[in-house]
Amino acid sequence: MDVLQSHRVEMLGIAVAVVAIAAGSAYYFYFTKKPKGCLDPENFKEFKLVKLTQLSHNVAKFRFALPTPTSVLGLPIGQHMSCRGKDSLGDEVIKPYTPTTLDSDIGYFELVIKMYPQGRMSHHFREMRVGDYLAVKGPKGRFKYQPGQVRAFGMLAGGTGITPMFQVARAILENPEDRTKVNLIYANVTYEDILLKEELDRFAHNFPDHFSVFYVLNQPPEEWDGGVGYVSKEMIQTYCPMPAPDIQILRCGPSPMNKAMAAHLNDLGYTSQMQFKF
Ligand SMILES: Cc1cc2nc3c(=O)[nH]c(=O)nc-3n(C[C@H](O)[C@H](O)[C@H](O)COP(=O)(O)OP(=O)(O)OC[C@H]3O[C@@H](n4cnc5c(N)ncnc54)[C@H](O)[C@@H]3O)c2cc1C
Repeated sequence: MDVLQSHRVEMLGIAVAVVAIAAGSAYYFYFTKKPKGCLDPENFKEFKLVKLTQLSHNVAKFRFALPTPTSVLGLPIGQHMSCRGKDSLGDEVIKPYTPTTLDSDIGYFELVIKMYPQGRMSHHFREMRVGDYLAVKGPKGRFKYQPGQVRAFGMLAGGTGITPMFQVARAILENPEDRTKVNLIYANVTYEDILLKEELDRFAHNFPDHFSVFYVLNQPPEEWDGGVGYVSKEMIQTYCPMPAPDIQILRCGPSPMNKAMAAHLNDLGYTSQMQFKF
C-alpha cells in the first residue's frame, strides 16, 4: 500500500513538473521571445502596397503589409532598408529608405517618400499603385541604439534626412523608461517642404522636457518664428547639447549640408565620437 502511495506521489510530482515546464516555455515563447522579423539582409523580399496617402504635391505615405497581421518588420531603431525599383528608362535602381514606423506597429510598415521630378527611384514610387509590390532588403546601417546609451541627442536633419531622426525620437519618446533628451534642428527650403511636421510638433507638445524642434527655412513665409537661411554654428550652440562624452549629434541630409554641419561641429569642439552621420 505504502509503495503504491509513494509511486502515486512520484507520478504526481512528475506531472506537476511537466506542466510547469510546458507553462514556462509557453510564457517564454509568447511573452519574452522577440517575434522574428520579415527582412532578409541577403535577398530582396516583396511587400504589398496596401495604402497610399498623398501628403503634399510631391510627398506621399506608403503603407506596406507584412506577411501576416501579427508580423513585425524587424528593423533595428535608426537602421534603413534598400528598396529596389525601375527608373523612367526601365533600368534597375536601389536606394536607402527609413520607415517612420517601429516594431510596435504590427502587420505593416510605412515609408514617407519625397518624389523629385528627375529622381530615378522617385519615378518608381510615383508609378506605384495599391496592390503593387516593393522589393526590400535589409536591415542596413551602422547606427545601433540602446536606451540610455547617451544622455542627449542633438539632431541635424535636412529634407528627407528627417526619417531616421524621426524613428529614433519616436522610439525614445514611446519608451517611458527612456529618459534620453532629443534636440532637433530641421532644415528645409520652404515651409511646404517640412515633412512630418504635425507629428514633430505633437512630440514637442507632449514631451516638452524630452524633445524640442527648431525649424530652419531658406525661404520662410512672411510670418515665421523659426531660423532663416542655413543651419549655423550659433543655432547648433543654442539648440543642441554642448560637447560632452555622454551626448551625440546625429546628422542626415543632402551632402552639401552634411559637409557644412561636419565643419560646424568640428569647430564647436564635438569629437568624432560625438558625431554620427546616417
Ligand atoms: C539612410 C537614408 C534614409 C533615407 N530615407 C528616406 C525616406 O525615408 N524618404 C525619402 O523620401 N528619402 C529618403 N532618403 C533619400 C533616398 O535614399 C533618395 O536619395 C531619394 O529618394 C532620391 O532618390 P531618387 O533616385 O529619386 O533621386 P536621384 O535620381 O538620386 O536624384 C535626381 C535629382 O533629384 C534631386 N534630389 C535627389 N535627392 C535630393 C535631396 N535629398 N535633396 C534635394 N534634391 C534631391 C537632385 O536634384 C537630383 O538631381 C534616405 C536616404 C538615406 C541615406
